[in-house]
Amino acid sequence: MQALDIRPCHLGVQVQALRTEVREFLAETLKDFPPHERAKNWNGADLEFSRKLGERGWLGMTWPKRYGGHERSALERYVVLEELLAAGAPVNAHWIAERQSGPLLMKFSPEVLAPRFLPAIARGELMICIGMSEPDVGSDLASVRTRAAKVDGGWVVNGSKVWTTGAHRSQYMVTLLRTGPKDESNRHAGLSQLLVDLQAPGVTVRPIYNMIGEHDFNEVFLENVFVPDDFLIGQPGDGWKQVGAELALERSGPERYLSCTQLYLEMLDAADPQNLRHAVSLGRVAARYAALRQMSLGVAGMLARGENPATPAALVKDQGALLEQSLPDLAHDLFGGVRQPDSRLDQVMRYLTQTAPSFSLRGGTREILRGIIARGLGLR
Ligand SMILES: Cc1cc2nc3c(=O)[nH]c(=O)nc-3n(C[C@H](O)[C@H](O)[C@H](O)COP(=O)(O)OP(=O)(O)OC[C@H]3O[C@@H](n4cnc5c(N)ncnc54)[C@H](O)[C@@H]3O)c2cc1C
Repeated sequence: MQALDIRPCHLGVQVQALRTEVREFLAETLKDFPPHERAKNWNGADLEFSRKLGERGWLGMTWPKRYGGHERSALERYVVLEELLAAGAPVNAHWIAERQSGPLLMKFSPEVLAPRFLPAIARGELMICIGMSEPDVGSDLASVRTRAAKVDGGWVVNGSKVWTTGAHRSQYMVTLLRTGPKDESNRHAGLSQLLVDLQAPGVTVRPIYNMIGEHDFNEVFLENVFVPDDFLIGQPGDGWKQVGAELALERSGPERYLSCTQLYLEMLDAADPQNLRHAVSLGRVAARYAALRQMSLGVAGMLARGENPATPAALVKDQGALLEQSLPDLAHDLFGGVRQPDSRLDQVMRYLTQTAPSFSLRGGTREILRGIIARGLGLR
């Protein structure tokens, strides 16, 4: 069995000034932002807020200046993410483009798509969504049925995507599709990624309302959509390898254990200092947060060293989702009988009780992550 190499990583004192600057900005900008909105955490979207972050230089922080980035370290970026998530800031509008689409374009289209689109992502003006899942295709992404046929000057795309978070506010979708024939002896062959303009003729975006009636994700239908050659990301047939790199970015950030922070803060606020059960239960959560933070920082350190964090990222996401999903239960256990209806605690609890079940689905299900961890450890 192989060992997982998540070395401890320390942020150091030089990032303290940045942390203070971000905290002051958030205290001022979000001073009237209510707890039930903060409970949405990185699911909450506000284009104006994303633009303000862009103005501050807090988007695309690690990217080269020629792409509109700021050439700061991965650990400085980590501090900004941590503060945004801890405050429950509405970051979803730019989150996916900044976290994974920008780095994907930088790696696989450094001369064409990256110079064209990254500056607008770094300004908080360009939204991109992820078109991986399809009806009947979620965990088993190699089975995607959306196809692109080669024509003069580009590709013609037909198919559909589902659960596409933010497609209704995005300009583009990074789309995993089949450009080559299906080969049962190599299921990962023949897949590619195209950047699809969601305003192009033949694209239809339809809302899907989640369990609490909110519109976060969508169905996207693609009917004879023309995509120019330049909008191919990487090489035809390399889609599987590219998606693997993208998913490591999707799973590796601190958002994978901080989604329920507002609930934890409300529980701390409501706790009775004389109640030993409150102290022990909430103290245990603090210890788990501390351990996950160290692991998550270890993954950030790997990214900073240019290493592939796929296995440790899967571990942090799996353990992070376990912690996040345990918090609504803990809140009901400790405060269910005594909370005031419609109090801050009650509102945050209601929201997260209904949304937390999805945390072990989005970004890869628990069983899939555990399969990745087992493979990384040499167990399968
Ligand atoms: C809030 C949210 C946002 C999302 N946003 C996006 C998005 O923006 N873009 C996008 O493309 N997708 C998105 N998704 C879809 C998400 O990626 C899929 O739901 C996820 O990959 C699982 O796919 P599925 O729903 O088809 O479930 P399935 O793959 O059908 O899985 C059903 C169950 O079977 C288990 N299972 C499946 N295969 C195996 C196996 N080989 N071994 C053991 N168990 C297995 C799974 O763990 C799960 O419990 C989002 C989902 C959610 C909940």
